[in-house]
Amino acid sequence: MAPHRDISPDDCPNCRKVYGALEEHQTADPETWLTTETLGRVVGLKKRATQDHLAHLFAHSRIDADRRTPLGGGIGQPLLPGAQDWASKVVAPDPTCAKCLVALAGIGWEGQVSMEELAKIAGVGLRTIERHRPHLVRADLVHFRAVPVRKDGKNLGRKADRFTLMSGLTAPRLEGAAWDEAPARAESVVDRVRWFVGVTDDERDLAVKSVAWCLRNGWPEEALLRALDSSENRQAYRPNGYLSKLLRKLPTSYVVPARQVVTQRTAPRMTECRICRTAVKTTLPGRVLCGGLVCLEVGSDQPPAAPVFRIA
Ligand SMILES: [Zn+2]
Ligand SMILES: [Zn+2]
Ligand SMILES: [Zn+2]
Repeated sequence: MAPHRDISPDDCPNCRKVYGALEEHQTADPETWLTTETLGRVVGLKKRATQDHLAHLFAHSRIDADRRTPLGGGIGQPLLPGAQDWASKVVAPDPTCAKCLVALAGIGWEGQVSMEELAKIAGVGLRTIERHRPHLVRADLVHFRAVPVRKDGKNLGRKADRFTLMSGLTAPRLEGAAWDEAPARAESVVDRVRWFVGVTDDERDLAVKSVAWCLRNGWPEEALLRALDSSENRQAYRPNGYLSKLLRKLPTSYVVPARQVVTQRTAPRMTECRICRTAVKTTLPGRVLCGGLVCLEVGSDQPPAAPVFRIA
Protein backbone atom coordinates (compact mmCIF):
# COMPACT_ATOMS: atom_id res chain seq x y z
CA MET A 1 0.00 0.00 0.00
CA ALA A 2 1.22 3.47 -0.85
CA PRO A 3 2.31 5.71 2.05
CA HIS A 4 -0.53 7.60 3.70
CA ARG A 5 0.51 10.99 2.38
CA ASP A 6 0.38 9.71 -1.19
CA ILE A 7 -3.18 8.44 -1.12
CA SER A 8 -6.40 10.39 -1.22
CA PRO A 9 -8.36 10.53 2.06
CA ASP A 10 -11.14 8.89 0.03
CA ASP A 11 -8.97 5.79 -0.15
CA CYS A 12 -7.93 5.80 3.52
CA PRO A 13 -10.43 3.93 5.72
CA ASN A 14 -9.27 5.81 8.83
CA CYS A 15 -9.59 9.22 7.18
CA ARG A 16 -13.13 8.25 6.21
CA LYS A 17 -13.87 7.15 9.78
CA VAL A 18 -12.48 10.38 11.24
CA TYR A 19 -14.42 12.44 8.72
CA GLY A 20 -17.60 10.50 9.51
CA ALA A 21 -17.16 11.08 13.25
CA LEU A 22 -16.64 14.82 12.67
CA GLU A 23 -19.79 14.98 10.58
CA GLU A 24 -21.77 13.16 13.25
CA HIS A 25 -20.46 15.43 15.97
CA GLN A 26 -21.30 18.47 13.84
CA THR A 27 -24.96 17.42 13.73
CA ALA A 28 -25.23 16.05 17.26
CA ASP A 29 -23.35 18.60 19.34
CA PRO A 30 -21.81 21.40 17.25
CA GLU A 31 -21.23 23.71 20.24
CA THR A 32 -18.88 21.38 22.11
CA TRP A 33 -15.23 21.19 21.06
CA LEU A 34 -14.25 17.64 20.25
CA THR A 35 -10.80 16.90 21.65
CA THR A 36 -8.41 14.75 19.63
CA GLU A 37 -8.44 12.10 22.38
CA THR A 38 -12.24 11.86 22.37
CA LEU A 39 -12.31 11.76 18.60
CA GLY A 40 -9.66 9.03 18.69
CA ARG A 41 -11.74 6.99 21.11
CA VAL A 42 -14.81 7.30 18.89
CA VAL A 43 -12.96 5.95 15.85
CA GLY A 44 -10.66 3.57 17.75
CA LEU A 45 -7.35 5.33 17.04
CA LYS A 46 -4.50 6.59 19.21
CA LYS A 47 -4.13 10.38 19.55
CA ARG A 48 -1.09 10.56 17.26
CA ALA A 49 -2.81 8.53 14.53
CA THR A 50 -5.95 10.64 14.84
CA GLN A 51 -3.81 13.77 14.36
CA ASP A 52 -2.23 12.28 11.25
CA HIS A 53 -5.58 11.61 9.62
CA LEU A 54 -6.90 15.04 10.63
CA ALA A 55 -3.83 16.64 9.06
CA HIS A 56 -4.34 14.55 5.94
CA LEU A 57 -8.02 15.52 5.69
CA PHE A 58 -7.02 19.18 6.10
CA ALA A 59 -4.23 18.93 3.52
CA HIS A 60 -6.79 17.60 1.05
CA SER A 61 -9.30 20.32 1.95
CA ARG A 62 -11.87 17.91 3.37
CA ILE A 63 -11.96 19.75 6.70
CA ASP A 64 -11.45 23.36 7.71
CA ALA A 65 -8.32 24.85 9.29
CA ASP A 66 -9.80 24.26 12.76
CA ARG A 67 -9.35 20.53 11.98
CA ARG A 68 -12.93 19.90 13.10
CA THR A 69 -15.34 21.33 10.54
CA PRO A 70 -16.13 19.01 7.61
CA LEU A 71 -16.20 20.90 4.34
CA GLY A 72 -18.87 20.54 1.68
CA GLY A 73 -18.42 17.94 -1.00
CA GLY A 74 -17.60 15.41 1.67
CA ILE A 75 -15.56 12.32 1.39
CA GLY A 76 -16.05 9.43 -0.98
CA GLN A 77 -18.03 11.70 -3.27
CA PRO A 78 -15.74 12.68 -6.10
CA LEU A 79 -15.96 16.38 -6.87
CA LEU A 80 -15.71 15.72 -10.59
CA PRO A 81 -18.24 18.28 -11.84
CA GLY A 82 -16.43 20.88 -9.68
CA ALA A 83 -13.04 20.06 -11.14
CA GLN A 84 -14.20 20.07 -14.75
CA ASP A 85 -16.21 23.19 -14.18
CA TRP A 86 -13.12 24.88 -12.76
CA ALA A 87 -10.92 23.62 -15.61
CA SER A 88 -13.28 24.91 -18.27
CA LYS A 89 -13.17 28.42 -16.79
CA VAL A 90 -9.44 28.73 -16.26
CA VAL A 91 -7.56 30.82 -18.79
CA ALA A 92 -5.05 28.25 -20.04
CA PRO A 93 -1.89 29.15 -21.99
CA ASP A 94 -3.46 27.98 -25.28
CA PRO A 95 -6.51 26.06 -26.58
CA THR A 96 -4.71 22.68 -26.60
CA CYS A 97 -3.61 23.18 -23.01
CA ALA A 98 -7.21 24.00 -22.13
CA LYS A 99 -8.30 20.71 -23.71
CA CYS A 100 -5.68 18.74 -21.76
CA LEU A 101 -6.63 20.48 -18.53
CA VAL A 102 -10.31 19.61 -18.92
CA ALA A 103 -9.32 16.01 -19.71
CA LEU A 104 -7.24 15.82 -16.52
CA ALA A 105 -10.05 17.37 -14.51
CA GLY A 106 -12.31 14.61 -15.79
CA ILE A 107 -10.20 12.25 -13.68
CA GLY A 108 -10.39 14.47 -10.61
CA TRP A 109 -8.62 17.22 -8.67
CA GLU A 110 -5.77 14.74 -8.37
CA GLY A 111 -5.09 11.33 -9.79
CA GLN A 112 -2.75 9.18 -11.79
CA VAL A 113 -2.61 8.98 -15.56
CA SER A 114 -0.13 7.97 -18.22
CA MET A 115 0.51 10.41 -21.04
CA GLU A 116 -0.84 7.81 -23.49
CA GLU A 117 -4.12 7.63 -21.59
CA LEU A 118 -4.31 11.39 -21.31
CA ALA A 119 -3.79 11.73 -25.07
CA LYS A 120 -6.69 9.36 -25.63
CA ILE A 121 -9.01 11.17 -23.21
CA ALA A 122 -8.12 14.61 -24.61
CA GLY A 123 -8.48 13.33 -28.17
CA VAL A 124 -5.02 14.50 -29.22
CA GLY A 125 -1.78 12.79 -30.17
CA LEU A 126 0.89 11.74 -27.66
CA ARG A 127 3.37 14.24 -29.11
CA THR A 128 0.85 17.03 -28.59
CA ILE A 129 0.50 16.06 -24.94
CA GLU A 130 4.28 16.03 -24.55
CA ARG A 131 4.54 19.47 -26.10
CA HIS A 132 1.84 21.08 -23.94
CA ARG A 133 2.50 19.40 -20.63
CA PRO A 134 5.35 21.83 -19.83
CA HIS A 135 3.04 24.79 -20.58
CA LEU A 136 0.56 23.62 -17.95
CA VAL A 137 3.34 23.01 -15.45
CA ARG A 138 4.91 26.43 -16.04
CA ALA A 139 1.51 28.11 -15.67
CA ASP A 140 1.17 26.41 -12.25
CA LEU A 141 -2.04 24.73 -13.37
CA VAL A 142 -0.88 21.12 -12.97
CA HIS A 143 1.75 19.54 -10.79
CA PHE A 144 3.06 16.14 -11.95
CA ARG A 145 4.91 13.73 -9.74
CA ALA A 146 6.85 10.71 -11.04
CA VAL A 147 5.98 7.38 -9.46
CA PRO A 148 9.13 5.25 -9.60
CA VAL A 149 8.90 1.47 -9.36
CA ARG A 150 11.52 0.21 -6.90
CA LYS A 151 12.41 -3.26 -5.83
CA ASP A 152 15.20 -4.08 -3.38
CA GLY A 153 16.51 -0.54 -3.72
CA LYS A 154 16.77 -0.86 -7.48
CA ASN A 155 14.97 1.47 -9.84
CA LEU A 156 12.79 -0.50 -12.23
CA GLY A 157 11.40 2.35 -14.30
CA ARG A 158 8.25 4.31 -13.50
CA LYS A 159 4.51 4.03 -13.41
CA ALA A 160 2.03 6.60 -14.70
CA ASP A 161 2.63 10.03 -13.13
CA ARG A 162 0.43 11.35 -10.34
CA PHE A 163 -0.99 14.80 -10.92
CA THR A 164 -2.65 17.54 -8.89
CA LEU A 165 -4.62 20.37 -10.45
CA MET A 166 -3.16 23.68 -9.29
CA SER A 167 -4.88 27.06 -9.15
CA GLY A 168 -2.07 29.12 -10.67
CA LEU A 169 -2.54 31.38 -7.64
CA THR A 170 0.14 31.76 -5.02
CA ALA A 171 -0.62 32.01 -1.32
CA PRO A 172 -0.25 35.59 -0.05
CA ARG A 173 2.67 36.58 2.17
CA LEU A 174 1.78 36.79 5.84
CA GLU A 175 1.28 40.16 7.42
CA GLY A 176 0.54 41.68 10.80
CA ALA A 177 0.08 39.26 13.70
CA ALA A 178 0.51 36.22 11.45
CA TRP A 179 3.91 37.55 10.38
CA ASP A 180 4.96 37.96 14.01
CA GLU A 181 3.76 34.46 14.91
CA ALA A 182 5.80 32.78 12.15
CA PRO A 183 8.91 32.01 14.27
CA ALA A 184 6.82 30.25 16.95
CA ARG A 185 5.01 28.21 14.29
CA ALA A 186 8.35 27.48 12.62
CA GLU A 187 9.59 26.01 15.90
CA SER A 188 6.62 23.69 16.07
CA VAL A 189 7.26 22.63 12.46
CA VAL A 190 10.94 21.89 13.19
CA ASP A 191 9.86 19.93 16.30
CA ARG A 192 7.71 17.69 14.14
CA VAL A 193 10.49 16.77 11.69
CA ARG A 194 11.39 13.41 13.17
CA TRP A 195 14.87 13.10 11.71
CA PHE A 196 15.94 16.61 12.73
CA VAL A 197 17.76 15.55 15.90
CA GLY A 198 21.27 15.78 17.31
CA VAL A 199 21.80 19.38 16.23
CA THR A 200 23.38 22.29 18.10
CA ASP A 201 21.29 25.24 19.33
CA ASP A 202 22.74 27.42 16.59
CA GLU A 203 21.81 24.89 13.90
CA ARG A 204 18.30 24.66 15.29
CA ASP A 205 17.95 28.46 15.33
CA LEU A 206 19.05 28.53 11.72
CA ALA A 207 16.49 25.87 10.78
CA VAL A 208 13.72 27.76 12.58
CA LYS A 209 14.69 30.94 10.72
CA SER A 210 14.58 29.20 7.34
CA VAL A 211 11.19 27.62 8.06
CA ALA A 212 9.82 30.94 9.36
CA TRP A 213 10.92 32.55 6.09
CA CYS A 214 8.88 29.97 4.14
CA LEU A 215 5.85 30.40 6.41
CA ARG A 216 6.01 34.16 5.93
CA ASN A 217 6.06 33.62 2.18
CA GLY A 218 2.70 31.88 2.49
CA TRP A 219 3.74 28.23 2.77
CA PRO A 220 1.27 26.28 4.94
CA GLU A 221 2.70 24.12 7.73
CA GLU A 222 1.32 20.90 6.25
CA ALA A 223 2.97 21.52 2.88
CA LEU A 224 6.31 22.28 4.56
CA LEU A 225 6.10 19.15 6.69
CA ARG A 226 5.41 17.12 3.56
CA ALA A 227 8.32 18.72 1.73
CA LEU A 228 10.58 17.97 4.71
CA ASP A 229 9.63 14.27 4.87
CA SER A 230 8.74 14.99 8.49
CA SER A 231 7.37 11.54 9.24
CA GLU A 232 10.44 9.67 8.01
CA ASN A 233 12.79 8.33 10.63
CA ARG A 234 15.75 8.76 8.31
CA GLN A 235 19.30 9.03 9.56
CA ALA A 236 20.53 12.33 8.24
CA TYR A 237 24.32 12.66 8.38
CA ARG A 238 24.08 16.46 8.70
CA PRO A 239 20.46 17.20 9.64
CA ASN A 240 20.77 20.98 9.19
CA GLY A 241 22.46 20.61 5.79
CA TYR A 242 19.79 18.16 4.68
CA LEU A 243 17.01 20.44 5.92
CA SER A 244 18.29 23.46 4.05
CA LYS A 245 18.78 21.32 0.94
CA LEU A 246 15.10 20.28 1.06
CA LEU A 247 13.96 23.86 1.71
CA ARG A 248 16.11 25.20 -1.14
CA LYS A 249 14.24 22.92 -3.53
CA LEU A 250 10.95 24.70 -2.76
CA PRO A 251 9.79 27.58 -4.92
CA THR A 252 9.57 30.88 -3.03
CA SER A 253 5.79 31.04 -3.14
CA TYR A 254 3.32 28.28 -2.46
CA VAL A 255 0.94 27.58 -5.34
CA VAL A 256 -2.47 26.76 -3.94
CA PRO A 257 -4.02 23.50 -5.22
CA ALA A 258 -7.07 24.18 -7.38
CA ARG A 259 -9.37 22.12 -5.16
CA GLN A 260 -8.52 24.29 -2.20
CA VAL A 261 -9.32 27.50 -4.03
CA VAL A 262 -12.68 26.10 -5.14
CA THR A 263 -13.81 24.35 -1.97
CA GLN A 264 -12.06 26.13 0.87
CA ARG A 265 -14.05 28.13 3.31
CA THR A 266 -11.47 29.96 5.34
CA ALA A 267 -12.29 30.81 8.94
CA PRO A 268 -13.09 34.51 9.43
CA ARG A 269 -10.02 36.54 10.39
CA MET A 270 -9.29 40.14 11.30
CA THR A 271 -7.09 42.21 9.04
CA GLU A 272 -6.98 45.81 7.93
CA CYS A 273 -8.00 47.49 4.71
CA ARG A 274 -4.76 48.05 2.84
CA ILE A 275 -5.89 51.50 1.74
CA CYS A 276 -7.68 53.17 4.64
CA ARG A 277 -6.37 50.84 7.37
CA THR A 278 -9.85 50.25 8.84
CA ALA A 279 -10.08 46.91 10.67
CA VAL A 280 -12.10 44.35 8.67
CA LYS A 281 -13.30 40.84 9.32
CA THR A 282 -12.99 38.65 6.25
CA THR A 283 -13.12 35.09 4.98
CA LEU A 284 -11.32 36.01 1.76
CA PRO A 285 -7.72 34.89 1.31
CA GLY A 286 -4.90 37.38 0.86
CA ARG A 287 -4.98 41.15 1.12
CA VAL A 288 -8.44 42.63 1.21
CA LEU A 289 -10.02 46.06 1.24
CA CYS A 290 -12.67 47.24 3.71
CA GLY A 291 -15.46 46.69 1.18
CA GLY A 292 -14.11 43.37 -0.06
CA LEU A 293 -12.66 44.31 -3.44
CA VAL A 294 -13.14 48.07 -3.00
CA CYS A 295 -12.17 50.53 -0.29
CA LEU A 296 -15.33 52.19 0.98
CA GLU A 297 -13.38 55.29 1.99
CA VAL A 298 -11.98 55.89 -1.46
CA GLY A 299 -14.91 54.43 -3.34
CA SER A 300 -13.02 52.17 -5.66
CA ASP A 301 -9.59 50.76 -6.17
CA GLN A 302 -7.69 48.37 -8.35
CA PRO A 303 -8.46 44.79 -7.33
CA PRO A 304 -5.67 43.14 -5.30
CA ALA A 305 -2.56 42.20 -7.28
CA ALA A 306 -3.80 40.19 -10.25
CA PRO A 307 -2.53 36.63 -10.68
CA VAL A 308 -0.81 35.78 -13.94
CA PHE A 309 -3.66 33.55 -15.03
CA ARG A 310 -7.08 34.97 -14.45
CA ILE A 311 -9.78 32.60 -13.22
CA ALA A 312 -12.94 33.66 -14.98
ZN1 LIG B 1 -5.96 8.65 6.63
ZN1 LIG C 1 0.07 24.55 -24.48
ZN1 LIG D 1 -10.81 50.96 3.13
